Amino acid sequence: MPHPDQATRYGAVFWLDDCGDDLTRRPALAGDETVDVAIVGGGFSGLWTAWFLLQANPALQIAVIEREFCGHGASGRNGGWCSPRYPMLVDELEKHFGADAARATIRAQHAIVDDIGAIIADQGIDAHFTPGGMLSVARTPRQLAALHATYATYDRLGLAGDTHMLSADEARGLIAASSILGGMKTRSGASIHPARLVRGLARAVEARGGRIWESTAVARVRPGRPAMVETAGGTVTARRAVVLAGEAYLSDLPGYHRQLLPMSSMIVATAPLDQATWDAIGWQGYESLSSGAYTKDYLTRTRDGRILFGSRGAPYLFGSAMPEQALADPALYGPIIANLRGWFPVLRDVPITHAWGGYLGVPRDGMPSVHFDPATGLGNAFGYTGRGVATSALAGRALAGLIADDRALVPDLPMMRAPGRLWEVEPLRWIGVRYIQNAFARIDAADFRDGSTPPDAKLAKSLAPI
Ligand SMILES: Cc1cc2nc3c(=O)[nH]c(=O)nc-3n(C[C@H](O)[C@H](O)[C@H](O)COP(=O)(O)OP(=O)(O)OC[C@H]3O[C@@H](n4cnc5c(N)ncnc54)[C@H](O)[C@@H]3O)c2cc1C
Repeated sequence: MPHPDQATRYGAVFWLDDCGDDLTRRPALAGDETVDVAIVGGGFSGLWTAWFLLQANPALQIAVIEREFCGHGASGRNGGWCSPRYPMLVDELEKHFGADAARATIRAQHAIVDDIGAIIADQGIDAHFTPGGMLSVARTPRQLAALHATYATYDRLGLAGDTHMLSADEARGLIAASSILGGMKTRSGASIHPARLVRGLARAVEARGGRIWESTAVARVRPGRPAMVETAGGTVTARRAVVLAGEAYLSDLPGYHRQLLPMSSMIVATAPLDQATWDAIGWQGYESLSSGAYTKDYLTRTRDGRILFGSRGAPYLFGSAMPEQALADPALYGPIIANLRGWFPVLRDVPITHAWGGYLGVPRDGMPSVHFDPATGLGNAFGYTGRGVATSALAGRALAGLIADDRALVPDLPMMRAPGRLWEVEPLRWIGVRYIQNAFARIDAADFRDGSTPPDAKLAKSLAPI
């Protein structure tokens, strides 16, 4: 009998295979153009910014410039959590910005999840929006203590309204995974089909008059009045703003190399499970599921009955290199598949059909940046550290408000600030990031082995921006 993983397509993104269109590329830019707003990046950030700009002022001439195709980046290949969890953890938010800002941020994040659901419904975008909420489970005593601490912070800040703790039996009643010691359930939150969302959003932007050039790489951004972008096919002059919405991939752009750290995350997808297997697993609520592992296990149940199992990614590469083929190496996925089958031994013989990775952008201080400077004509929305599905809509709306001068769209939140400090130069960056990645893997391994904590755990946590 062939091994169940022989049919795995490494580097193939399940969501893009299943997005409902054939990813035919739109025409590239050919010649010089002038618009009101030129947006670099056809992912959620760029497209939500375009969408909300056109809502604020339908007369604006908007162009999105995308190096590959809309949804090629993290937006088309993520875990599908449209999550009320913010990129920065709530206790960190409170520590750095105070209790009021933490509350305002988490409330805004909850609200944008509902807003996304409403817009998708209104626009007829079939992005499989499934409001199943969030379920965090603890699989070690350390994880259980951390979950209780998180809940206590929510409670203290008055944010625990739709969140409650679950006993081990209650959590196991929702999901029959191994080693569950307890859980925390949040009613808010949805799972989505990210590629259907990003592709649908691109079409919605075009339907409102926005233009999209694909296969068009921006080689240089020139600030000024007006600001401009240069591509091999021509220059785009932007009367009002150039928006940088390329997240992790911006580290390739001159002047932005150290702004965000490209960190990979990787996912494997099972074949659709049969009813008997689903009966054994449960998970009837389609919650976005996670554990408290440092290496970040995140799981999604798809509409067609698969389990997607994601985990923190491949080792960081020197100089923030992010080659696509580095994420198609089968050797990277063995531990993730083993982890999935550790969670659910019943999946022992179920084939893994897809295994892929993608790059997300980590800001040095852990806080996203949404900013527009009329003097340079440059705006940006980025830095979501792996929690960008919902946050990019919040950021895109806020950035549209700044550019269109519609203050009602601009929230008073800590992310409304210029990009934060730069990452260290190499080789310091490589040494530090590799150390943190290794330390987190060691912390998880020791925690599972015997509940011990490596002596450098505190140091590793203090160095990590998130
Ligand atoms: C594997 C994985 C799993 C994740 N899971 C989740 C999750 O479950 N929930 C969640 O909230 N977040 C998740 N994230 C993070 C989330 O997907 C991102 O934060 C979000 O999609 C970022 O959207 P974006 O539009 O800013 O960037 P991207 O989607 O990366 O889009 C940027 C686009 O800009 C283009 N671009 C960049 N530079 C240029 C240039 N010079 N010229 C032209 N075009 C350019 C790129 O080609 C790309 O298409 C995950 C990320 C990954 C990689």
